[in-house]
Amino acid sequence: MDSESGPKPSASTSQNSTSDSSSAFERWRNWASEMTGVGLTTGVPSTSRQARDIARCEKNKQWLIDNSPVVTFMLQHLALSGCRVPARNLICGPCNQTRAGGYDPERGAIILCASNFYSRRHMERTMAHELVHMYDDCKFNVDWSNLRHQACSEIRANSLSGDCRYASELARGVFGVAGQHQECVRRRAIGSLAANPLCPNEETARKVVNEVFESCFKDTRPFDEVY
Ligand SMILES: [Zn+2]
Repeated sequence: MDSESGPKPSASTSQNSTSDSSSAFERWRNWASEMTGVGLTTGVPSTSRQARDIARCEKNKQWLIDNSPVVTFMLQHLALSGCRVPARNLICGPCNQTRAGGYDPERGAIILCASNFYSRRHMERTMAHELVHMYDDCKFNVDWSNLRHQACSEIRANSLSGDCRYASELARGVFGVAGQHQECVRRRAIGSLAANPLCPNEETARKVVNEVFESCFKDTRPFDEVY
């Protein structure tokens, strides 16, 4: 996720999962362009490559729901908190090149950018990251228009998802320094917050993230510690 406004997950009641998914994706895409100006791909012809990517994304999604300890754990804890997430609310779709996934609080849906995963591990981290946002929304009534709230959820999502595990940072070409995990979490949270149009500039993002960092970084719920 990178910014939004709205209520909680688990409200999807549509019968037809295919059209439900695509209309949820449409809505998310419109919302995301408005909110973040990210410029998601619009009017992309459905190419065979894209169809193949989406089919692979769906397959990996199901595999991760069944086999990934972190995804299973998050889904369990969402359900325990009253927000059961059906598989159809995890939507594989086309996106532009700049993002791997997003969370749509209005639909209670997570968007997975089918063509932008370089491995199943990357997809696993993305799902875990967005599920932390969903969990925060379910459990703590996040006000996504409040920068402090969003900063806190970004800190937790980056810390708990594995986005900042040593190997993930090495893959990005960021090499080890003391406190690498914390610095990675801080850097990525600032980046996400700065991308929110409600945030005037990067300096503000840095200030807000720093203000809430300690308490939010320490809060590892529903994990006992950083996964
Ligand atoms: Zn995020």
